Amino acid sequence: MDTILVVNAGSSSVKFQVFSIEGEGSLRRQIKGQIDGIGSRPRLRASGASGDPLADRAYPIEAVADVPAAMGIAGEWLRNELRIDPIAVGHRVVHGGPDHDGPVLVDHGVVARLERFVSLAPLHQPHNLAPIRTILAGFPGLPQVACFDTAFHRTHSAVADHYAIPHQFYAEGVRRYGFHGLSYEYIAKTLPQVAPDIAKGRVIVAHLGSGASMCALKGGRSIESTMGFTALDGLPMGTRPGQLDPGVVLYLISEKGMSASNVQNFLYRDCGLKGLSGVSNDMRELEASEDPRAKLAIDHFVYRIGLNAGMLAAALQGLDAFVFTAGIGENSASLRARVAEQLGWLGVALDPAENSRHARLISRAGSRIPVYVVPTDEELMIAQHTLTLLMKAPSSNPRQERVS
Ligand code: AMP
Repeated sequence: MDTILVVNAGSSSVKFQVFSIEGEGSLRRQIKGQIDGIGSRPRLRASGASGDPLADRAYPIEAVADVPAAMGIAGEWLRNELRIDPIAVGHRVVHGGPDHDGPVLVDHGVVARLERFVSLAPLHQPHNLAPIRTILAGFPGLPQVACFDTAFHRTHSAVADHYAIPHQFYAEGVRRYGFHGLSYEYIAKTLPQVAPDIAKGRVIVAHLGSGASMCALKGGRSIESTMGFTALDGLPMGTRPGQLDPGVVLYLISEKGMSASNVQNFLYRDCGLKGLSGVSNDMRELEASEDPRAKLAIDHFVYRIGLNAGMLAAALQGLDAFVFTAGIGENSASLRARVAEQLGWLGVALDPAENSRHARLISRAGSRIPVYVVPTDEELMIAQHTLTLLMKAPSSNPRQERVS
């Protein structure tokens, strides 16, 4: 069985999935797993295609001290115990910088160039690149593909791509990149099957998960995003504040004496739903809580989604459909109902019964703006990109370069 391994590495976890290549280039998910608790309480968990458990084992902290070690353990488990021998590996890489508007086959030169973007995404990029380097060292002939969260948004106009700061910063890479691009690309590719006419029009996609952003799609292409230079901007998230007056950052530095790294940790880890509620970063826990601050956090989240929808509708000069996706967008009927209420002025009218049963189309027949729930699949997108590049690459002969 020919397979593709998909890797999504963060600071404390390495998530992976294995897809088999079926007839005519279609892909089937076979394994889903992760090593989390890297450097604290490492644990490998994995399940098969139908959710059947394949592994759940703890490791001593010194055995999985960092991302390369976790990649090594996941790779050994796949090779030695499951006899998985991928013909290529696709990686999620948060930042492709200004130049990459699509995935690339990776070699040492590409990794060196992607290193330059570490300063643009210091909490993600180094961890994304670490397993690429580990595999390059151990299996130099195995094709690897980097798939970027920024790439799908490279279609933005110059006007949308700039901040109103001196041009030299734009030239060195301070731009409004936008993120969650693999999720939006998957939705843009799926929409023509869900609603062919609407897919050609003006659509707002709300990716509401522990990270959250919204994207304006025109004819299936991204023209605007709520995120900008980093994944901190836009909507409030689990632990990130979303849009914040830069004056708050100045206040933290000048009045609270916080260092740059203190501010960074604060903005990435202590704000958003967690900071505002003081209860949790997890929407399920907030919805179950009686604490008034949990209610305030949800109210704020809904309010900001509504405000940002107005902004994106302005960028699109109108709206033909609204799509919910990701953990909260796909699973929380009550959050969707609250957002739909907020969008009533745009002509959104939800069908409560369809919404409760998480139907694909959740708006009423008479709703001027149809509202959809489309589950996203970033890993499948990465596997598809990897397969496509593999097929295009004239020099790669995956069968001779297998992991052994
Ligand atoms: P993601 O990052 O896409 O995995 O989404 C994670 C977020 O989705 C967390 O805030 C979860 O609480 C939220 N979530 C997942 N399932 C549900 C659910 N049934 N109801 C409400 N929120 C959910």
